[in-house]
Amino acid sequence: MKIRFLGTSSGAPTLSRNVSGLAVGRRNSKAWYLVDCGDGTQRQILRAEVTLAQLQAVFITHVHGDHCYGLPGLLASASLAGRTRPLTLVGPRAVARLIEAASEFTGLHLAFEVVFLAVDESPLGVTLWQDEGVSVEARALSHRVPSFAYAFREALPRSGLDEGALQSLGVPRGPLWGDLLHGQAVTLPCGELIRPEQVLMRPARQRCIVVAGDNDRPDLLAGFGPVDAWVHEATYTEDVLAKVGPGSQHSTAARVADAARMSAVPHVVLTHFSPRYRDDPSQPRSLADVQAEARSRYQGALFMAHDGDSFELDAQGVLTQARHGWAR
Ligand SMILES: [Zn+2]
Repeated sequence: MKIRFLGTSSGAPTLSRNVSGLAVGRRNSKAWYLVDCGDGTQRQILRAEVTLAQLQAVFITHVHGDHCYGLPGLLASASLAGRTRPLTLVGPRAVARLIEAASEFTGLHLAFEVVFLAVDESPLGVTLWQDEGVSVEARALSHRVPSFAYAFREALPRSGLDEGALQSLGVPRGPLWGDLLHGQAVTLPCGELIRPEQVLMRPARQRCIVVAGDNDRPDLLAGFGPVDAWVHEATYTEDVLAKVGPGSQHSTAARVADAARMSAVPHVVLTHFSPRYRDDPSQPRSLADVQAEARSRYQGALFMAHDGDSFELDAQGVLTQARHGWAR
């Protein structure tokens, strides 16, 4: 699996960071999924080597503008580009009303069907949506409006028989193979018992990345169980949160780091930074402060997202940074 950040600023864009958007991709496939669609996301997509034609589904974490104001424009551009294939849109019910209002008041007519799935009216903690490449589960977070996290689990190839093992054990080709494939132990003519686990190919490890919406309770991600990586907002550091107050219901770097340590998640990518933190570490407040606060409490692999950054999760579940920024 791979992810690419289209926007990493909270609330409003800066010269170097757009508001929230994240492309989730599959290895060896051009199919991709979009999580959140802040204003300007469609322009970021033009830089990201993904196309609206290959977009399989859009997942909106919550209704705040920095996560969904780009949606009407993105849908309109997909239609202009000739898309006719239906597009799945997952998010709180209010997102559907936003699209309906844009259609009514701006004369937006899409050449494709938007298949809407209301996450706030769906059972959580089970598979919410899936295609041939991923299954997605949602969980509720804690924010000023209903906000959700989405776990992307890569689909596993179907387990089959290991023909090499069958031959070395001397199982003759025929009905015995079918019994073993269906989980039944069989007895060979010589009297030897063969159990299915001796000849079934072990399924590959199922990789999983959780992408969270805005949230002041990162410990809630523990509900997904063991996963490979969290993508979570770290809007503030503790000193700034103390000044702005808890009413914004955003996380600090420390809070995410503590939750990640408790959950033993091996990789964390922080994003959605307040524009007051500059990229230049010589400034009075910088992303280096956010990073240092998280690093002091979490010993796993920690990444600070920039627009254009991409990461790959390999077959062993190791997340590495593949690209820094938009530069190729
Ligand atoms: Zn936000």
